[in-house]
Amino acid sequence: MTVPIRKFDAVIVGAGGAGLRAALQLSEAGLKTAVLSKVFPTRSHTVAAQGGISASLGNVQEDKWEWHMYDTVKGSDWLGDQDAIEFMCRQAPEVVVELEHFGMPFDRLENGKIYQRPFGGHMADFGKTPVQRACAAADRTGHAMLHTLYQRNVRANTQFFVEWMALDLIRDEAGEVVGVTALEMETGEVSIIHAKAVLFATGGAGRIFSASTNAFINTGDGLGMTVRAGIPLEDMEFWQFHPTGVAGAGVLITEGVRGEGGILLNSEGERFMERYAPNAKDLASRDVVSRAMALEILEGRGCGKEKDHVLLKLDHLGPDIIKQRLPGIREIAIKFAGVDPIQDPIPVVPTCHYQMGGIPTNYKGEVVAPVGDDPEVRIKGFYAAGECACASVHGANRLGTNSLLDLVVFGKAAGNSIIDFIKNERPELRPLPANAAEFSLARLARLENQTGGEEVADVRNAMQKVVQLRAGVFRNSENLAKGVEEIKAVAERVKRTQIADKSKVFNTARVEALELDNLIEVAVATLICAEARKESRGAHAHDDFPDRHDEWMKHTMFDGKTRQLSYKPVHTKPLTVDYIEPQKRVY
Ligand SMILES: Cc1cc2nc3c(=O)[nH]c(=O)nc-3n(C[C@H](O)[C@H](O)[C@H](O)COP(=O)(O)OP(=O)(O)OC[C@H]3O[C@@H](n4cnc5c(N)ncnc54)[C@H](O)[C@@H]3O)c2cc1C
Repeated sequence: MTVPIRKFDAVIVGAGGAGLRAALQLSEAGLKTAVLSKVFPTRSHTVAAQGGISASLGNVQEDKWEWHMYDTVKGSDWLGDQDAIEFMCRQAPEVVVELEHFGMPFDRLENGKIYQRPFGGHMADFGKTPVQRACAAADRTGHAMLHTLYQRNVRANTQFFVEWMALDLIRDEAGEVVGVTALEMETGEVSIIHAKAVLFATGGAGRIFSASTNAFINTGDGLGMTVRAGIPLEDMEFWQFHPTGVAGAGVLITEGVRGEGGILLNSEGERFMERYAPNAKDLASRDVVSRAMALEILEGRGCGKEKDHVLLKLDHLGPDIIKQRLPGIREIAIKFAGVDPIQDPIPVVPTCHYQMGGIPTNYKGEVVAPVGDDPEVRIKGFYAAGECACASVHGANRLGTNSLLDLVVFGKAAGNSIIDFIKNERPELRPLPANAAEFSLARLARLENQTGGEEVADVRNAMQKVVQLRAGVFRNSENLAKGVEEIKAVAERVKRTQIADKSKVFNTARVEALELDNLIEVAVATLICAEARKESRGAHAHDDFPDRHDEWMKHTMFDGKTRQLSYKPVHTKPLTVDYIEPQKRVY
C-alpha cells in the first residue's frame, strides 16, 4: 500500500497555546510549518482557561521574577528543575508583553497597563505576602490568548491540518525523529508527514480519570505516541485534583458554594467532613476535602447506583441566595447533573484537573531520554512543549496561571531550538525509514479485522474506574498495588477492542479506539509510577507515607515497553541565581 507523503520543515502536533506559539516562531522565521489538530485550533483545551497568565510585571505592586521563581519552586514541592523554572519566570514579562503586542485583549488598569489579579501561591518577597501577578482577560484568558495566537499564525502562513489525528512518531534506524503518521478524519486515509523536526504539543490526558475538568479530546495522544516510540515518560504519578467536579461530567463547581454554606454528605446522610476536619469542616483545604471524599467512596459510603460520588447539598440556603450568589453553579448543575440545587443536592467527586508529568524535555524544549549513564541525551529532531511536556517547571504541583505561561515560554523556546537545529544540524530532510507507516497501518488493520473483541466504551470505562479509584486524590499501598494489577488487565483488553462501524468518512468510533490506545499507556504509567513513590510530595498524597522524604527528590522515568522505572536527579543548578534549598512547604 502506498501512503501519501507530505514534506515540511517542521510539523507540530497540537494547536493549543503551546503548539500555536511554537508555530508562530517557525512560520515567522520563514520555515514551512504544518500544524495538525484533532479539532479546529481555537477549540483546543487552552480555550477553557479562565484565571490568567502569571508574569512579574509589577503593574499593581512591586514584583520580581526571583520571587516568582521562589514561589514556583516551593509550589513544585522541590521536584521542579530550577534551571527551567528560572528560565520560565525570567522570560514571563517578555512573552506576556509580546502577547499584548500581538493584540491579546487583556483587561486594563486605570493607567492603561495590563490588569493583574492575585492567585494561590503567588507571593511577594520570597513567600511573605500575596502579590497580584496573574495577567487576565476577564475570566476568559485562555480564550483571548488562543484566538490571538491563531490569528497571528494565519497571518504568518502556518499551514493547518484540521481534524487530522497524528497516530505515531517515525524514528529512523539511528533513533532520530523524521516525521509522524496521521489519519485524516474526513477521509479515513493515512498520510506520512515527513519533516526535519517534530514538536508535540498535544495537551493533557485528564481523560484517564472518570472525573476530569479536561476536554474530551485530552487523551494523552502525544504521551502514547512517545511510549510506542520507545521513549520514557517523566513524573507520571503527579496529577492535580479539585474537590468538587460534577460526577460523570467533571465540570467544575467552585469552592464558593461551600463558602456560602453548602455541605458534603455521604450515602448515610452524614456530614462526614465533621469527622475529618472538626474546625474547618467542608471548608478545609482542597487536598484534605478531596482525600476525605475519596475515603468515603472507597469505604462504601458513596452515593448513587455505583456508590461512586458524594452529594453537595445547598437547598438549605434557600432559593434567593442560590439565585443571587450562585446562578452560574445552578445553571451548571441543571445542565450537567440534571438537578436543580434549589431542591436537590449536586453529585460531586474530586476531579482530575492537570498533569504535571509528561514527555521529558530540557528548558529548550528538546526531548531528552536516558542513555547509559547519561540521564538526558537529546533525541534529535524531537521537541515537546505545553501540558504534554515535562520541562519540569511544575514538579509535584503546579501553581495556578503557571500553565498558560509554560505554553508561551516553552512554545517559543522550542520554536527557537528547532530554527537552530534546522539551520545548523539538519538543513535537509533525513530519509524516511523503509515502511515508515507500517506500524500505524498494522494498528488500523488490527482494529479493522478484530473479532470477538470488546466495545471501546466498556474498556475505557473500566480503565477510568481503576484510575479514579486507585490513583485518585487519596492513595495507599494496598490500593496502588491492586490498581497496578487491574490496569495491566485492562491494558490486555485494550489490545482486543472492536468497532462495529468500519466506514471511512468521519468515523469517530475509530478515532475513539485509537485514543484509547494512548489513554491506556498514560494510565499504566500513572499507576506504576504512583505505586513506586514511597512518600507524599505535592499532589501525590500517600497515606502510608504521609511525609516528604528528600531521598525521593528525584524524577521518575517510566519505560512503557518494559514497564520498568528508573530515576534521574532534579536539576539543582539554576542558570544564574543560587539554588533554593528544600524547606517544609507551609502556606
Ligand atoms: C477548565 C480548565 C481551566 C484552566 N484554567 C487555567 C488558568 O486559568 N490558568 C492556567 O495557567 N492554566 C489553566 N488550565 C491549564 C491550561 O489551560 C492547560 O494546561 C493548557 O491550556 C494546555 O495547553 P496545550 O497547548 O498544552 O494543549 P491544549 O490546549 O490542550 O491543546 C492540545 C492540542 O493538541 C491536539 N491534539 C492532541 N492529540 C492530537 C493528535 N493525536 N493529533 C493531532 N492533534 C492532536 C488537539 O487537537 C489540540 O489542538 C486550565 C485547564 C482546564 C482544563
